[in-house]
Amino acid sequence: MIKKEFKAESKRLLDMMIHSIYTQKEIFLRELISNASDAIDKIYYKALTDDNIVFNKDDYYIRITPDKENRTLTITDTGIGMTQEELENNLGIIAKSGSLAFKSENEAKDGHNIIGQFGVGFYSAFMVADKVTVTSKALGSDQAYRWESEGADGYTIEPCEKDSVGTEIVLKIKENTEDDRYDEFLEEYRLRTIIKKYSDFIRYPIKMEVSGS
Ligand code: ADP
Ligand code: MG
Repeated sequence: MIKKEFKAESKRLLDMMIHSIYTQKEIFLRELISNASDAIDKIYYKALTDDNIVFNKDDYYIRITPDKENRTLTITDTGIGMTQEELENNLGIIAKSGSLAFKSENEAKDGHNIIGQFGVGFYSAFMVADKVTVTSKALGSDQAYRWESEGADGYTIEPCEKDSVGTEIVLKIKENTEDDRYDEFLEEYRLRTIIKKYSDFIRYPIKMEVSGS
């Protein structure tokens, strides 16, 4: 497996992201949920023009799964997923927003709004996680891929198994330090509060699954 480096600009941006742009760590969840929602919207848009795609609303949702024992927070969506190239291009280059391009092509077809546009949202995950693992299977693709990164030093991509189309993002939540606490992002009640605060307007169901209960 070859480890790839982020582009230099991306490294600087990642650093800025972690240290200054967002003062409130909790917004990482808003960013990841909005990406998940955008990914489902993309299937919705495709279904408008492609008769082979049936958009059955019940099949589309976002799931949040905190796991205290393993210190992971998993965000799963049944959206359009990413190919190997898309993982590389959309997650490997900060500030390249796939959704911005999609937006200019598709917007105003109806009342729906793709949220993403600045291309920095995904990296906010590194404010709370020291490792991010993205497993994704794109619509129309047989092969799934796994993108993994521990931050500024780069990322890896490799083929993997995944049954259904969509994306699963596993955040390995940072250990508490004297100055910063991260445990709260594994607490169900805290996550619910954050979701209510920022993601109330998301049109797809956000389900919470708690391990061991
Ligand atoms: P933005 O949402 O502003 O485009 P982000 O940094 O949040 O920027 O995400 C970068 C890109 O990565 C998105 O535009 C999208 O193409 C892709 N992406 C991120 N999360 C997902 C996801 N859950 N499913 C599919 N694609 C995603
Ligand atoms: Mg985004």
